[in-house]
Amino acid sequence: MSSRPDLRGRLAAARAQREREGLLRRVRTCDVLPGGRRVVGKRILADFCGNDYLGLASHRELVAALTRSAAVEGVGTGAAHLVSGHRGEHAALEEELADWTGRERAVLFSTGVMANLGALQALLNAGAMPGGRDMPLCVQDKLNHASLIDGAQLAGASLRRYPHADVEGAARQLDAQPDVPALLATDGVFSMDGDIAPLAALAQLCRERHALLYVDDAHGLGVLGRHGAGSLAAAGLGSADAPVLMGTLGKALGCAGAFVAGDADLMDAIVQFARPYIYTTAMPAALAAATRAAVRLVREDSEGRRERLAANIARFRAGAAQLGLPLMPSQTAIQPLVLGDAGSTLAAARMLEREGFLVVAIRPPTVPQGAGRLRITLSAAHNEARIDALLDALARLPLPTQALAV
Ligand SMILES: *Cc1c(COP(=O)(O)O)cnc(C)c1O
Repeated sequence: MSSRPDLRGRLAAARAQREREGLLRRVRTCDVLPGGRRVVGKRILADFCGNDYLGLASHRELVAALTRSAAVEGVGTGAAHLVSGHRGEHAALEEELADWTGRERAVLFSTGVMANLGALQALLNAGAMPGGRDMPLCVQDKLNHASLIDGAQLAGASLRRYPHADVEGAARQLDAQPDVPALLATDGVFSMDGDIAPLAALAQLCRERHALLYVDDAHGLGVLGRHGAGSLAAAGLGSADAPVLMGTLGKALGCAGAFVAGDADLMDAIVQFARPYIYTTAMPAALAAATRAAVRLVREDSEGRRERLAANIARFRAGAAQLGLPLMPSQTAIQPLVLGDAGSTLAAARMLEREGFLVVAIRPPTVPQGAGRLRITLSAAHNEARIDALLDALARLPLPTQALAV
């Protein structure tokens, strides 16, 4: 007889604990209707929680590029990039992404999570001695995306987090280990708060402390900066200031996948050493073709989608201010309404659903304890009437008193 503890029992206990705390998650099927609406169960809801900031996911040019390419290329690539899965569409997309973001080279990944896991693993772990006395330091903002945190851990780096957007805190963490190579990673736009990282100050700090700056611009690319080139472009920072830029293709670009961009040496290191790049099947070529169409549309923006998004953000914020809603100081498409405990956040999300709006309750561990929130996101696809209707519904929410103190 073995006295080995039972894994299933532990899982059941962890799940029961989540359930008691009101933190259980469930997958819901949200089908697509025209005009940014969703069918969820028996309800038709206006989506105010997605990341399709420019409304490109259903754009006819993307759909046409995808179907045209699939007719020639087929669906699957059948192999990894380093085997026989790298097509002309991938090569062209990588070149266009590098050109758009002002970098020497871009490397495609199948998802943003894989890009962060792979790039951090390659940059931090390659060349380190097994056993790890020379393991590099990875300094990160406390509110960074989970995949950045996990990437540093996967790499076996010494991970030190600093208080949100606190450049002096970041300096202290770098100075705590001055004798090892260091990388500082930050979201460009924070995914659950919507604020923008102090990129210029972080770039200066990294220059002074000889640390490599890595910016995850999942929520900045396409919407911020000249030609939508992202939060670094908006801050006037180039490749010399922020040598590693990670961008996702599934948010403002309306497709799926991600890339890492930077100088040729760093990008080659990622191709050589990033296991989530090396050992996975290349994304469908048709998806790369659709993404090329998206990059073209976003760069030119002849339909004025960035302007429409900005107008929608301004309209929502002005309306919320009139209602006295405790919005966070975000100027981006992410406009969270912090409600506090998980119970009130869930109740508010349910009430909005009854009124016809899909706004998901974000609870710990995605956000800190007591900072449950409605993560409201705006899109160029929303119209004024729908934003006003959402504001009307928000005005009827019973806000807990702690929310008013934020
Ligand atoms: C969404 C997101 C990712 C992950 O990108 P996927 O392509 O969805 O896997 C990474 N970083 C940040 C900041 C994100 O918001």
